[in-house]
Amino acid sequence: MNICKGNPDTLTTTGERTEGPLPAAATRNACKLCTPLGAAMVFKGVRGCLPFLHGSQGCATYIRRYMISHFREPVDIASSSFSEDDAIFGGAKNFAQGVDNVIHQYAPELIGVATTCLSETIGDNMLGMIKTYQDKHCGDGPPLVHVSTPAYTGTHSDGYYSAIRELIKAFAQPTRITQPRMVNILPAMMSCADLRHLREICALYELEATILPDYSSTLEGGSWECYHRISPGGTSLDEISEMATAAATLEIGHTQAVDKDSAGSWLERERGVRCDALGWPIGIRLSDQFFAAMATASNRPMPAILADERGRLVDAYVDAHKYVSGKRAAIFGEPDLVVGLAAFMSEIGVRPVICATGSKVKKWKELLASEIEGGTADVEILSDADHAKLAEAARTLKPDIILGSSKGYPLARELKIPLVRIGFPIHDRIGAQRMLSVGYRGTLELFDRVANALLESRQDDSATGYSYL
Ligand code: SF4
Repeated sequence: MNICKGNPDTLTTTGERTEGPLPAAATRNACKLCTPLGAAMVFKGVRGCLPFLHGSQGCATYIRRYMISHFREPVDIASSSFSEDDAIFGGAKNFAQGVDNVIHQYAPELIGVATTCLSETIGDNMLGMIKTYQDKHCGDGPPLVHVSTPAYTGTHSDGYYSAIRELIKAFAQPTRITQPRMVNILPAMMSCADLRHLREICALYELEATILPDYSSTLEGGSWECYHRISPGGTSLDEISEMATAAATLEIGHTQAVDKDSAGSWLERERGVRCDALGWPIGIRLSDQFFAAMATASNRPMPAILADERGRLVDAYVDAHKYVSGKRAAIFGEPDLVVGLAAFMSEIGVRPVICATGSKVKKWKELLASEIEGGTADVEILSDADHAKLAEAARTLKPDIILGSSKGYPLARELKIPLVRIGFPIHDRIGAQRMLSVGYRGTLELFDRVANALLESRQDDSATGYSYL
């Protein structure tokens, strides 16, 4: 039942019609996805790992559907498939049987166990179940790593970062060795093309990189001669183990910089690996910061190829400023992406008039204010938002363009403005996994997409239909 804030004629939860605005009592079209989805995406980026959801079958099906429609790849996610009895008496039996089946059918190198709302609500003791299982099998079989992911207290972003942290806590062994040319990269929830570009950048700086997670092959592989039950690729357990020997960790995402328990902070505190907290490298300024951190980690100047890319990006800004300058944007999605996009849009002269995320983010307003030029007094900043709130704000503030996932399409259609698809999920277009948006090269691609979307909209709105703009 919807109760609409600001709607003059609304229904209460009991179905009575009332007059005047009422506070929203229900989320309407959530601007977030469920927490274990983020964990499953991380587990898909670890070599030989099978994600395993402890809970009902539907959770795994929903997550698989979303990931398959975005990445267009087979995605297997196991489930302990709760019945009614398990929901009352606990899912220990199903868990043990499910793990047995997974080992038998997939022979995984690792099983990544994420909880669902149901198992969290009934209070299943996951660590106890894992220990009981491992004791019973005398430690034989693949390791199991657990991440707690109740979706009613988090979002897919939270699940993503939590899974990275739990993997590092479980496998990054203490060591006195430091490998000076080794760096850890902890990316935010980026596209496969972004992850590949990060690896390419590390190679240009002659750094050995461990990127966790790395689903650039597992969720965007080539065609196979024969079927693989678990997609090839991903970060190996040995690489995760060696993360404690790296000279530095580059942790991407503003929200992680303010989280004292982020994976990078943990590695610094517990394993002595210096952590550079960085924003999502979109736009010139945030990319400059990223490349400066790479230069420090490698003790090398920026390679010429990157300097050239920066020059071309500056030139593109100059060429197209008359088409983008003064426009207004609504941005929604994962919080770190929204901050990165707000910084980028502000840099190219587009005012981010709405910045919305479905997550509850510590210091959300401060994070945005630190990146949006000219302050945020006129910016509608929404956290814990749903698409209904976003739509209400957009109807009032009338942006020229929306940046976000496919979930923004109904609003873009209603307002007759373009939607530049970025983030997760993108399931009404092909190629989400190949969209590059990080670094100078990625920003250039994104900039062209934004500028061309505005041009196309102007062309479509024109009675004359100019072909020369
Ligand atoms: S019940 Fe919870 S974990 Fe399962 S799909 Fe729904 S939100 Fe996700």
